[in-house]
Amino acid sequence: MQNKDKRNPFRAVGFDLFNTLVVARETTLDEAMGRLVAALRQSGFDFDEGAFNTHYGTAAAWHIERSRKSGKETHNRFWICDALNRLGNRLSPDDPRIASAVQAYFSAFYPNVRLVPGTKAMLERLQKHYPLGLLSNFTHAPAARKILATVGIEKYFKTVVISGEMGYRKPHPRVFSALAEGFSEAKEHILFVGDDPETDIKGASQSGLLPVWMTYARDHKAPFNSGIFSENKGNPGDAVLRVASWEALFALLDGHLPRTDPRP
Ligand SMILES: [Mg+2]
Repeated sequence: MQNKDKRNPFRAVGFDLFNTLVVARETTLDEAMGRLVAALRQSGFDFDEGAFNTHYGTAAAWHIERSRKSGKETHNRFWICDALNRLGNRLSPDDPRIASAVQAYFSAFYPNVRLVPGTKAMLERLQKHYPLGLLSNFTHAPAARKILATVGIEKYFKTVVISGEMGYRKPHPRVFSALAEGFSEAKEHILFVGDDPETDIKGASQSGLLPVWMTYARDHKAPFNSGIFSENKGNPGDAVLRVASWEALFALLDGHLPRTDPRP
């Protein structure tokens, strides 16, 4: 049920995914790289793993820096392609062997991702009062959608925006506009909850949404860090609303949520 209370500016709540609603085991990325290399070998590529990893890292850093400057999303297939070509191949990023390797890479995520404690109950309760949305920076959108299905939270979202599908990533205003359009709400009526001071907090704020900094993952030294998109540094400042648990989010919204369940 949408909030019609004129004193309450919020009409919808958006969430970031990684380190906000879900965290992943520390070993996830190593496992993902292992699966990626194994898949390429299975497709017939023969290379030194150390050399491949070095080229992959260099290529990833280059593409990501470009992405950061433009706001346009990149994709792992470009990094894999560049790394293989530096090892003497002449491949296109759309080579089906690269697509298989991308799938193998992300297959390591599904068994290693878990919800932040209380997330399902929080979404269940909150969706009775506000439409909910998800806005994730994730290069390979099918994997992001599979993660949502794996942890069982996709049904709570009225709208899901994945950077890999949009072509742009947070903090670019286009993705926040897409979230607002998914809600059919003006941006100033949207509360956005995320862990990253730059992409989530500054991004939401610059686009006119009200950001809430969720610090559960940081406070619990949640191990997952993409290692590549390591933007989560710094402090967004004392003026930003901050919660470290879902109880704290409800406390923040207290007074804006009806005391009893809404009418059906
Ligand atoms: Mg995040």
